[in-house]
Amino acid sequence: MSPTLFQISHPVVPVLGETAAYPVRRIFCVGRNYAAHAREMGSDPTREAPCYFTKSADSVVPGGGPVPYPPGTANLHHEVELVVALGAPVFRANAATAAGAVFGHAVGLDLTRRDLQLAAKDLGQPWDLGKSFEFSAPVSPLRRAAAPVLAARIELAVNGTVRQSADVADMTWSVPEVIAHLSRFYHLGPGDLIFTGTPEGVGPVVPGDRIEARIDGIGELAVDITVG
Ligand code: MN
Repeated sequence: MSPTLFQISHPVVPVLGETAAYPVRRIFCVGRNYAAHAREMGSDPTREAPCYFTKSADSVVPGGGPVPYPPGTANLHHEVELVVALGAPVFRANAATAAGAVFGHAVGLDLTRRDLQLAAKDLGQPWDLGKSFEFSAPVSPLRRAAAPVLAARIELAVNGTVRQSADVADMTWSVPEVIAHLSRFYHLGPGDLIFTGTPEGVGPVVPGDRIEARIDGIGELAVDITVG
């Protein structure tokens, strides 16, 4: 056995009703997957191929809780999203095959340093600074599923006021379509989380704010933004 330089623990997400947790290997995110959100971000919501970015696995905040306001931003935004966890290998799949790779679902927040994301967009630069940072991916406990969810109410409130309210059925690309498309580019498999995009109504949060997100039949997630 070769010597190890560092001991690093793998991020895990709890699974409802089970002792064992789900280890996170990668986080893929879909951009602009709800037409109304694409419009509020200044894009044309045509059904062009989905666009993706990634977050580091260690940006997961399992089960929610306190999230320190991140450095380098003055405009932290909430984005509530349906999260899909894969439980089987899937590569170059069609939608029907892709559906069989779903392990379960969760409620997730794609926390975004919007000022940094927009600056990068303007310059044609990568979105990493705006999207991938510590604590940027709170995820509720996973709920196992035999099939991908195609319709469910998705909602987010800040300090009790509803800011985002839509239905997963409004997604431009459905869960099986996203998995199938992404599987053209990656050997997807267990440990891969996919954030499937946010509906309209994104907006800023500041220290002291409480974010409560839910998806009917899947779960709930609460996050308190604290001083960073
Ligand atoms: Mn997003």
